[in-house]
Amino acid sequence: MASSVRVRFAPSPTGRLHIGGARTAIYNWAFARANGGAFILRIDDTDPTRSTEENTQVILRAMRWLGLDWDEGPEVGGPCGPYAQTERMDLYRQAAEKLLAEGKAYPCFCTPEQLEADRQAAKERKDPFQGYQRRCRSIPVDEARKRMEAGEPYTLRIKVPEDRGDVVVEDAVHGRVVFDAKELDDFVIFRSDGTPTYNFATVVDDAAMGITHVIRGDDHLSNTPRQVIVYEALGAPTPTFAHISMILGADGKKLSKRHGATSVEEYRDAGYLSDAFVNYLALLGWSLDGETTVIPRDVLASQFSLERISKNPATFDPKKLDWMNAEYLNRMSDAEFADRVLTPELEEAGLVESADAISCSDMLLLASIVKPRVKMLGQVAGVCGMIFKTADTLEYDEKSVKKGLAKEGMRAVLDAAASALGAIADDDWTAEKIDAALEPLPEALDLKKRAVFQAVRVAVCGVMVSPPLGETMQLVGKADCLARIERAKGLAL
Ligand code: GLU
Repeated sequence: MASSVRVRFAPSPTGRLHIGGARTAIYNWAFARANGGAFILRIDDTDPTRSTEENTQVILRAMRWLGLDWDEGPEVGGPCGPYAQTERMDLYRQAAEKLLAEGKAYPCFCTPEQLEADRQAAKERKDPFQGYQRRCRSIPVDEARKRMEAGEPYTLRIKVPEDRGDVVVEDAVHGRVVFDAKELDDFVIFRSDGTPTYNFATVVDDAAMGITHVIRGDDHLSNTPRQVIVYEALGAPTPTFAHISMILGADGKKLSKRHGATSVEEYRDAGYLSDAFVNYLALLGWSLDGETTVIPRDVLASQFSLERISKNPATFDPKKLDWMNAEYLNRMSDAEFADRVLTPELEEAGLVESADAISCSDMLLLASIVKPRVKMLGQVAGVCGMIFKTADTLEYDEKSVKKGLAKEGMRAVLDAAASALGAIADDDWTAEKIDAALEPLPEALDLKKRAVFQAVRVAVCGVMVSPPLGETMQLVGKADCLARIERAKGLAL
């Protein structure tokens, strides 16, 4: 069902995509999806000193990793392109010229010194209005034209209608917000270097792109009255605004580097699942019903609503994010885990050249023993990497050897284990048979069960902590298990 809802996410490529930006993108995406509308990605790269193509690429990659597909924007195109502001300069110029011709904007020739002097004077006489004093507003049009043509530097200012009154915004999150008319000055829409200001370019674009809802961080709430003035001057309908609250760190301060990783790719690299990450960020300021925490992407995309966005700042809690990630991993079926987690992780860690070489049943068995033991994707190799070693390449952890193998009687344990395991027919090499073969050893050797199993575990895995021994040994294979035990005898006493 197509609807008229059109929203945009408009990052400035002055840095990486951060948690706050990612949440804004998620809300816009989910709102578009929930309403059968269009999600537009626009690159606000008008700040030439701080915008880079590399950052744009990083942002696009992060958006893809988050799974936030855009209907119009870079690389996919669309009817309202181009979708980078630096490629839209002509549109801003045309819009400004139109306002100039209609007498809704005027050139201002005031020097920075003049402006500063006016500001100081207003301050001294305690004028409640400290904005631009409208000096150039009264310059006759012909005279202004002549000065412009003569090459005198100027900015373009918007003419706020004298009778405009307070600007009232019915914000979908904050409710009614009233901006005092006295606060509104004739602000600059084009700088003297010929570049548009943020408030102007944004509105020209949002109007041209037919944006119906502007969902963004509430650091932009204070820009909204000026943007409303621009919409009115352009004769374009004002969209619905929804300003979402800040994300705070545990100390109640605005989230920043001090609180740890802030960029999306740092979370990707740390081993979070994008579904879990999106779910967690969505809950920073929005709720489905006030209690549900695990909200799959399709539910978010069908149930998201502006009404359930909270006015209060949300607190970023890395522990909850970790919990969410583990929850997502655990809810996967073994097949899904094998496919989405094991395959890429094993290949990336260089443990296997291609996961295709592992049989389907081994892969499922591996998934069943690894899944409950990882909270993060990057932990996969640590949990099961030893399975993919050989008797020659396995590394023995010194502490584990000391605790589990280098003790009186352990050599005898390995001897007994080797002969019990060796008696299992090759075709019968299953966790069940392995467990059954090892089971009688403690009694036969008159040793504690723990000591026996620890010795075999360290011999086969190189470490004291591993997934269940039978399953692990099944995956290692009979010949390799026996070879590992043989090698470990050299470490046992
Ligand atoms: N480029 C602006 C930013 O990144 C967009 C603000 C807006 O959504 O209007 O803050």
